[in-house]
Amino acid sequence: MRSQTMHELAICYGLLDELQAVANDRSARRVYSVVLSIGPLAGVEPAALQQAFTVAAAGTVAEGAELIIDEKRVRLRCDHCGAESEAPHIGHLTCGSCGSWRTSVLEGAELQLTRVELEKTPDDRAADTVQEPRDTPQTH
Ligand SMILES: [Zn+2]
Repeated sequence: MRSQTMHELAICYGLLDELQAVANDRSARRVYSVVLSIGPLAGVEPAALQQAFTVAAAGTVAEGAELIIDEKRVRLRCDHCGAESEAPHIGHLTCGSCGSWRTSVLEGAELQLTRVELEKTPDDRAADTVQEPRDTPQTH
């Protein structure tokens, strides 16, 4: 097994601890689906994470749960001109406005559990929002 996969497995075990805690907290019997926001700078390979999750979730409250990965973009603020822009590539963190290399990363390194769908009773399929993504207005 590649060491990269071990890295994703370790992340999944941490995630499963969190899911178990959320399920306990809401008296849920199982987890249907999980949404994770991952920035390109988080150092996580989404495909490897999917595989690792399937392996790690076996026998847990999240066995068979769907893992939905919301891949974020890298956003930068230029230290030179102050413009905010989206990085064209994670190896190319230059200002989209003036091309300066002196930029700060605003977003793109996150690895965040944003939503969990839980089963509480056999007929109650309820969605519990753990944390709304910042740019999504809450409608309820
Ligand atoms: Zn700039």
